[in-house]
Amino acid sequence: MEHSNYNSTSSASHLPEPDIHILTSGGLRIPAHSAILAMASPVLENIIERPRKHRSSEPVIPILGVPCDAVSAFVDYLYSSRCEEDQLAKYGIHLLALSHVYSVPQLKQRCSRGVSQRLTAENAVDVLQLARLCDAPDLYLKCMKHIAAHFKSVEQTEAWFFMQDHDPWLELEILQFIDEAETRKKRMRRHRKEQSLYLELSEAMECLKHICTEGCTTVGPYDVKPAKKPGPCNKYVTCHGVQLLIKHFALCKRRVNGGGCSRCKRMWQLLRLHSSICDHRDSCRVPLCRQFKVKAQQQQGMGDDAKWKLLVKKVLSAKAISSLTLPKRKREDELSLRETHHQVLKNFRLC
Ligand SMILES: [Zn+2]
Ligand SMILES: [Zn+2]
Ligand SMILES: [Zn+2]
Repeated sequence: MEHSNYNSTSSASHLPEPDIHILTSGGLRIPAHSAILAMASPVLENIIERPRKHRSSEPVIPILGVPCDAVSAFVDYLYSSRCEEDQLAKYGIHLLALSHVYSVPQLKQRCSRGVSQRLTAENAVDVLQLARLCDAPDLYLKCMKHIAAHFKSVEQTEAWFFMQDHDPWLELEILQFIDEAETRKKRMRRHRKEQSLYLELSEAMECLKHICTEGCTTVGPYDVKPAKKPGPCNKYVTCHGVQLLIKHFALCKRRVNGGGCSRCKRMWQLLRLHSSICDHRDSCRVPLCRQFKVKAQQQQGMGDDAKWKLLVKKVLSAKAISSLTLPKRKREDELSLRETHHQVLKNFRLC
């Protein structure tokens, strides 16, 4: 069997006669030019320059263990630096192996990408093993991610069962990767949740200040008359929540009677948070702003407020907005709720 691409193609028509043959597993002999092979692959260059036992015999380089057509596609690439998509689709994994063994980095990169785009539950484990053998870290990672994302299907495949029997270390590696991926995802989710909490708090802070300064719809400072047509502000969802909280705080009986009312606590925490953030010490119209500041100064260095400071920092750095949940605090040791209650009642008109 003789393969004669390189005599007939127009680009190669000016080439001298082939001086070497490549032999495939199927018995195909591909005529080639040693100079071109040597230029394209340092490994082939070594083989070509190696002294031969029988000087008289025709030089042959065997490339065995992959389909004939994959070897043809490989030799094509060495000549043209081009690889058709359909060849990549058919022989991607073989070309990857060949490009690794014969050290053709550009083809290897191309195959690594091409193969990673064609990953399936069926082939992912095999490709993973190949990627490891061929030292293709990008492809390796893509396989891991693919397996993690489609694990239910992957663990039903022949390849998975085979790997379990023959390469338990790889199985462990995969399971570990999946475990770490889960942890990463959870951490991300938690971070996003926290972030949205800080945004909500930050908007609540703006609303609290705006209610205490100019008033909004039905709640405002006792000495500021309500607007003739008190329309909602542009953050009304949050603003309304803060207003309801203020009204509740003013009227709640449970708190006054010593019961632990969670909504009252929330109001109290909002006021404290405001004070931590506010920099208008004397002109501020938010109730208790100054008292909280004084208290905070007295308690400075007592070590218990690191968490609170962190919260303040995060709220400050968060830009947007919405609800009013605050993390539960261990103790409420500063201003009493009762005291706060009177201050709020004194400060607001609630209609
Ligand atoms: Zn408002
Ligand atoms: Zn209450
Ligand atoms: Zn203030």
